[in-house]
Amino acid sequence: MKTAVFPGSFDPFTKGHEDIVRKALSLFDKVIVAIGVNSTKSYLFELEKRERWIRDVFADSRQVEVVPFEGLTVDLCKKHHASFILRGLRNPADFQYESNIAHMNEGLDASIQSVFLLCDPRFAAINASIVREIFKNGGDVSNFIPNTIDLHA
Ligand code: ADP
Repeated sequence: MKTAVFPGSFDPFTKGHEDIVRKALSLFDKVIVAIGVNSTKSYLFELEKRERWIRDVFADSRQVEVVPFEGLTVDLCKKHHASFILRGLRNPADFQYESNIAHMNEGLDASIQSVFLLCDPRFAAINASIVREIFKNGGDVSNFIPNTIDLHA
């Protein structure tokens, strides 16, 4: 069984994130969306909400699992017998950042490979931190997040 872990803050989960997971479903038997919990980081949306929203987006797919996690991504992969870390790329800056992390992860465990998927150009400008700013300032973010998610709920 080919399993990939897709780690992130997902604060909130966007159409860009959804695109990456849906594309990955044709490559992997299972995709575990892993919501990182970092005690030094503060999040706008509660973990329980982020978890519920992602579950709702993939309510139609038995291939997707959602788990919160603390610690190293490679440790979470081992726990779930996942050989792949999935990440999304929007632009060269993402590639630069992501390739560093991937090399570090490979140094920690060479049996786990990072796999990158390019996002759809329609979603290349979507950035969760900008979505947060728009939301905090009362703007309409519905174009940037999956239709099933209501950030006010
Ligand atoms: P992190 O805090 O780990 O960067 P994010 O929730 O911001 O977590 O992103 C998780 C993953 O999704 C990363 O691989 C990131 O590059 C990717 N990603 C973020 N936004 C988009 C998007 N619009 N399209 C495709 N991938 C994206």
